[in-house]
Amino acid sequence: TLSDRLTSVLQNLRGKGKLSDADIDATAREIRIALLEADVALPVVRAFIGRVKERAKGAEVSAALNPAQQVIKIVNEELVAILGGETRRLNLAKNPPTVIMLAGLQGAGKTTLAGKLAMWLKKQGHAPMLVACDLQRPNAVTQLQIVGERAGVVTFAPEPGNGVGDPVDVARRGIEEARRAQHDVVVVDTAGRLGVDEELMKQAADIRDAVRPEETLFVVDAMIGQDAVTTAEAFRDGVGFTGVVLTKLDGDARGGAALSVREVTGQPILFASNGEKLEDFDVFHPDRMASRILGMGDMLSLIEQAEQAFDQDQAEQAAQKLTSGQLTLEDFLEQMLAVRKMGPIGNLLGMLPGAGQMKDQIAAVDDKQLDRLQAIIRGMTPAERADPKLINGSRRLRIANGSGVAVREVNDLVNRFFEARKMMSQMAGRFGFGGGGGGSK
Ligand code: GDP
Ligand code: MG
Repeated sequence: TLSDRLTSVLQNLRGKGKLSDADIDATAREIRIALLEADVALPVVRAFIGRVKERAKGAEVSAALNPAQQVIKIVNEELVAILGGETRRLNLAKNPPTVIMLAGLQGAGKTTLAGKLAMWLKKQGHAPMLVACDLQRPNAVTQLQIVGERAGVVTFAPEPGNGVGDPVDVARRGIEEARRAQHDVVVVDTAGRLGVDEELMKQAADIRDAVRPEETLFVVDAMIGQDAVTTAEAFRDGVGFTGVVLTKLDGDARGGAALSVREVTGQPILFASNGEKLEDFDVFHPDRMASRILGMGDMLSLIEQAEQAFDQDQAEQAAQKLTSGQLTLEDFLEQMLAVRKMGPIGNLLGMLPGAGQMKDQIAAVDDKQLDRLQAIIRGMTPAERADPKLINGSRRLRIANGSGVAVREVNDLVNRFFEARKMMSQMAGRFGFGGGGGGSK
């Protein structure tokens, strides 16, 4: 499988110090084969590999991750990006009812989805109605009615005994009924064929023109692999759609279809179906699908942990410096910028005993002042920034002139800095970290 393949490919990389071009090319070749084996369409594979290679070559060697982890991270990020990044929400009509039309091959899971969607919409506070426009198969209407009953919603269906009705007419009357009964969302179920054919497309297009849907959802079985591309293209050209729903993700499909449909049609995947029951349904999560395609959930969380540990290390180092009395003006400015960026977190400082004073100092600084402080510090020589004790009267005048402020402001900054440094050292002593170094860890 794809994941087996990628795992073995990336195992080859493990333990190597630096990612060379040859490494990346070899890896890319293997990932390419693996994606093709997973039924991802060729043009999609090409585009994907191109992006991964480019990024891997341009990437700085990470201090937190080994080369193998770095490649996995890039592959995963690119997958998430293709699959749509953030999940898109359903578009609702300004003037209800919102019409959602379902389209797709027979057996894709449209009728089942109609029930799932209805139940989901109900939970969100909507009053949905189903409309049965699949008049192709004798039991299709009954199937939708049963599904609707389970979901606890009304189903609009043609009166029995009138022979084969006209689905376009049923669709139109269904919307009228929804408006009259004040349903705010209407889900229109349509007929499918086993293969793409013109009559089917024409019927779907006619229904579309009759009901003017806010969303047309292309429903596709995740198991169909390579065929997903031709089917999606046929529906895009024949009916057009605004979103995709992947079904049967409870099976062992590797997700190749998701990647292909998304990349080829550019339309977002909105929902995922993963079972026959009405509850087996969720909004689509690109990150989860990416990790499914890679089959490396464990590896991905390891990477996350490694990065977090690294960040924490960096933070500890910064704290050491801060509390060891070695604070420079550069650090001071950085800290102020950081605390301001954190916003309300700055308030937490007030909860530390003895830190109230520092909180007040930070609160007293607004963004404009920060800009001025930055200008002053930039006006100092590196030596002055590193060792502010150097900054005597004549240096203060030079700095003030150079950065266009009054000498008083330079004095202010320098004094505030010394205060902060003193306070940091005191705090360090009180909490028993930093200071002489090697205190606690
Ligand atoms: P339609 O022809 O597009 O309306 O497809 P149906 O809704 O009738 O579904 C065809 C078959 O697939 C039925 O037996 C459903 O129970 C089944 N099915 C639909 N969605 C899923 C799913 O997400 N997982 C599984 N395992 N089966 C599904
Ligand atoms: Mg059906």
